[in-house]
Amino acid sequence: MVAKVIPVEDFDLVIFGGTGDLATRKILPGLYRRMLSGQMPKTSRIIGAARSEYDADAFREHVHQGLKDHVDQSLLKKRDVDAFLGQLDYLQLDIFTDDGWKALGEMLRGDVIRAFYFSVAPSLFGEIARRLVQFKLADQDARIVVEKPFGRNLETAKALNAELAECFDEKQVYRIDHYLGKETVQNLMAIRFGNALFEPLWNAQHVDHVQITASESLGVGGRGAYYDKSGAMRDMVQNHLMQLLCLTAMEPPSKFEANAVRDEKLKIIKALSPVAPNEVVRGQYSATEDKGSYIQDSENPESDTECFVAMKVEIANWRWAGTPFYLRTGKRLRNRLTEIAVVFKDPPHSIFDDTGTHLRGNALIIRLQPDEGITMRMTIKDPGPGGMRLREVPLDMTFAEALEGEDIDLPDAYERLIMDVIRGNQTLFMRGDEVEAAWNWIDPIINQWVEKGSKPIQYDSGGSGPDDALMLMHRDGRRWREIKQ
Ligand code: NAP
Repeated sequence: MVAKVIPVEDFDLVIFGGTGDLATRKILPGLYRRMLSGQMPKTSRIIGAARSEYDADAFREHVHQGLKDHVDQSLLKKRDVDAFLGQLDYLQLDIFTDDGWKALGEMLRGDVIRAFYFSVAPSLFGEIARRLVQFKLADQDARIVVEKPFGRNLETAKALNAELAECFDEKQVYRIDHYLGKETVQNLMAIRFGNALFEPLWNAQHVDHVQITASESLGVGGRGAYYDKSGAMRDMVQNHLMQLLCLTAMEPPSKFEANAVRDEKLKIIKALSPVAPNEVVRGQYSATEDKGSYIQDSENPESDTECFVAMKVEIANWRWAGTPFYLRTGKRLRNRLTEIAVVFKDPPHSIFDDTGTHLRGNALIIRLQPDEGITMRMTIKDPGPGGMRLREVPLDMTFAEALEGEDIDLPDAYERLIMDVIRGNQTLFMRGDEVEAAWNWIDPIINQWVEKGSKPIQYDSGGSGPDDALMLMHRDGRRWREIKQ
């Protein structure tokens, strides 16, 4: 079976920062793959804009190299690459000067969708927005795409929102959190709202707790100095983990439509209880024989930035009161893994008295990476003679295996999100009030650390984080799922 790809409408996409790392590694290779799939119209155009002294050919050469580095070689047939490069153009432009903007206006067509991707530092977002309006480059239907980080606290996020709101309607602003573009994140909604099986159980009466883990095996490496200015709370929890929490906990929206979904997510963020200091653990990885510690990688001997966070989160509403959500994210841990585990309550009574097995609750595990899929933890009879012995087994499904043999077009997160921008679908993008509400909840946690001058705890590289993070669950009589090798 070949998946049907519906082409989007014709568009002109301007990538401010078209020569930068994100554009070269993600955005342009992603667009190339969308062209191959037939989703990007052959007439659409992509214009890179940056200060580098390129002409169109030099930019094409730069992008060509990016494709060689970041796209599977088997997909790089000369005819396809030439066709894609032929859709590119370049404009040398310094966002802060008047030169170039008029020329940009002349490059854009009048009768197609206009999208402007701000793939530059957030400090430039406001300036680009103002210039687009000043030079009348953005009509009412134009879309702007802004990258994370969206502010570093409530105050800066509000200021950024206000700057953009001066120039664009909220319905034109697409704030990217690439986690939302992942196939499994959307599958989370399909599983919850496409199966009647789970909904009656999806509440505090039946769910003991939820664990959300996003672990990485790598350290901060070459971008340590940059990372040190944000940390795990700002870089992962405030956006990615909170989005996963919202999608797991929210009420069913009345329809799968941008504002209906975002309204429900916002209600969850607003229902989050303040977090007490003893319910958050922060850490930094220590050195190994051949790799430096976080302090060394960040090039900041005084650094008190965390690259690990574990926390217990309570949602004060009818559905979830009494069922905690535990969040955990960190660098240089045992493995790279992102998953949501919904752990159900233990059976209320065991009829198997002398099996010696404690009957544990079922768990539904939704894996975002690696091997996107779903596992259900079940109890079965241990096969063979010897009476009624019980054991736990995983009912395991990876999407790749379940759909084997089908020719599936699986766009990566960036590809999907860029096509959603062109389609005018904001469902998988964060709304301004959502971002502000998230900061409003996170800020007091970070402020507590700053006021107390608290230091992150050192943890061993290659493990599962500081012991205090294990204790966070142990003292509630629970435990983290293992981060397996
Ligand atoms: P980068 O490699 O530093 O690229 C920045 C781009 O902005 C370059 O193309 C640069 O080109 C251009 N630029 C800088 N000042 C300019 C000016 N005054 N006028 C016109 N162009 C200017 O940064 P990046 O890593 O691609 O990140 C871009 C954005 O994405 C940032 O907001 C970042 O936080 C976000 N982001 C990046 C990643 C990632 O993996 N890289 C992931 C998530 C989010 P010239 O020097 O030629 O002008």
